[in-house]
Amino acid sequence: MCKHPLIGQYFVDWNGNIVCPQHKDAFCHSCRRFYGSNAIEVEPGIFLCHSCMSHLITPSRAEHIIGRIRYFYRQNGLEIKSRVKLKVISANEMVQQYAPQHQGFVVFPPENGEFSVVILRHLSQTVFATVMAHEILHVWQFENQITAPLEICEGFCNLGSYLFLQHINSPVAQGQQTLLEFDDSDIYGKGFEKLKKIYDSTGIFGIISEIKKYQCTR
Ligand SMILES: [Zn+2]
Ligand SMILES: [Zn+2]
Repeated sequence: MCKHPLIGQYFVDWNGNIVCPQHKDAFCHSCRRFYGSNAIEVEPGIFLCHSCMSHLITPSRAEHIIGRIRYFYRQNGLEIKSRVKLKVISANEMVQQYAPQHQGFVVFPPENGEFSVVILRHLSQTVFATVMAHEILHVWQFENQITAPLEICEGFCNLGSYLFLQHINSPVAQGQQTLLEFDDSDIYGKGFEKLKKIYDSTGIFGIISEIKKYQCTR
């Protein structure tokens, strides 16, 4: 992908693109596959691949996708009752307001029953859906007074994204599922692995009863 000769170590993304160690960080800001020479710089130092660039999220698509996510969760026994307001920020603002490497977060507590979900600008529709499907389950946990350990909390949200992506069924959606499956980070990766195991043996209702173990009943 980077047109450099591969000697010894090399890196492969979810799409099978290969780069040399020098270009291992040259991945798309949105879908995280390695980009070639056709990447577009959308913010200083932030590049998008050609595919994400041509499927960028728009305000009306975002509303449509949020509706689909809510419907999908409701069908699976996870109804999100609150209103959700979307706020998009640049990668630079994300670093300042939250943390690097994050694509979204929810502002707690809600204001007048409305949650603000903050998400990176410059995401493709599929990646936006992945992030939104994760964040909206934080809202569900808040509504249901669930205070799970961080690993379970984030693993549950990632499992939600994973299941919603299954429902989209496109190569980019499969790629995002692969990223979730092969994430080896302590909190997100390990949490997902734990919850995915429970899901595989007991399904969504097993997952709901697992997460409800952490419900604070007053
Ligand atoms: Zn991309
Ligand atoms: Zn999260």
